Amino acid sequence: MCNPHLAHPAVWALVSLLAISGAGQSTWAPEHLERANALHARAIVLDTHSDVTPKFHNAEWDFSVRHETGHMDIPRMRDAGFDAQFLSIYMGRKPEPGTAIKEAIRRVDAVYEAVRRYPKQLEIAYTAADVFRIKEAGKIACLMGIEGGHIIEDSLAALRMLHRLGCRYMTLTHSFNSVWADSSGTMSDVKGDFDGLSERGHELIAEMNRIGIMVDISHVADATFWDAIQLSKAPVIASHSSVDGVFPHRRNLSDPMLRAVKKNNGVVMINFFSAYIDPDFDGYQKAWDAEHKEALDGMRTKFKANRREFRGARREFMKTHPMKQTPLTVLARHVEHCAKVAGWDHVGMGADWDGVSALPEGIKHCGDTVKLTALLLARGAKEADLEKFLGTNLLRVMADCEKSARELAAGK
Ligand SMILES: [Zn+2]
Repeated sequence: MCNPHLAHPAVWALVSLLAISGAGQSTWAPEHLERANALHARAIVLDTHSDVTPKFHNAEWDFSVRHETGHMDIPRMRDAGFDAQFLSIYMGRKPEPGTAIKEAIRRVDAVYEAVRRYPKQLEIAYTAADVFRIKEAGKIACLMGIEGGHIIEDSLAALRMLHRLGCRYMTLTHSFNSVWADSSGTMSDVKGDFDGLSERGHELIAEMNRIGIMVDISHVADATFWDAIQLSKAPVIASHSSVDGVFPHRRNLSDPMLRAVKKNNGVVMINFFSAYIDPDFDGYQKAWDAEHKEALDGMRTKFKANRREFRGARREFMKTHPMKQTPLTVLARHVEHCAKVAGWDHVGMGADWDGVSALPEGIKHCGDTVKLTALLLARGAKEADLEKFLGTNLLRVMADCEKSARELAAGK
């Protein structure tokens, strides 16, 4: 039977839009992208993990211009309405004993130097309230997070000084054990030294709570997670971790962990790295390696003395011989699973910009994050929930940690 009301073209447009909205959708309509762009423009957009920091050591490298390579610069952050970014104070390898603090100070200085070079665009934020103020001023808030307890070596004094310099979270480990805690490892397991936190690790959590630096459980062993979340008097974060519910991986969080983060009022910031989120990614890699074995062997022979040059040549080759990419729906499912188990108040974005070698389809850099938001909208997410996901959840946790530190100082 023909309904005369459905004859109007605008009604048909609405019907077709509704037909592609809802759970399970793998793409979005132009209307979703429009809404995503508007949402990114008005909401606080904040990500908790970028490894762009070492580029700031090179004064020749200009953060204020658009680059063809890498994941992050100011123009591409502006494209997606970024208001705040946690810049990682990290070292890609396990440092020689006695060198980590010096290297960390160098990294923190590089962040301050970047802010000095672009004062109209960037400002350092020390509190959650600073982030709102800096957004209002039309600038991007730069925050810092320490990646790995090894960076403070065995010194709580170093932790306090890095906090005074502006660092606002610390992962208890990187991909190897620290004197404070056991790590999960990244691509292979790490044998535990302490079965969780060490005795000193207990002191560390108390001190982190006292001074108001967020306890970050990304990169830690499961036993460390449970010790830390039971001990912490303030909410915890996972600055860049995804969920076992979509792909069980040692870097991801299980459902009981997500429920514990919910109870703790913390937040899980979803990592975008294909190797952590996609059960099929290993297969894509193996197939690509097999297909291009001859070319890869040639590069290995040519650059055998220099792994970095080999990786650069491989990256170049990949531009003309692309590997199959993780569908963006896989990433959307991580966000949705976290929201389903822990709630929309406990999920956020910690992509691992410039720290990972493969991102999902359509996400070439941080400017593409609106596509994830458009897809989540098309799959039925509410704008109010996405606003929390995009930034306010993390700022709530940060403000809670500030408050908890004030209360501990007042002896409450
Ligand atoms: Zn990491």
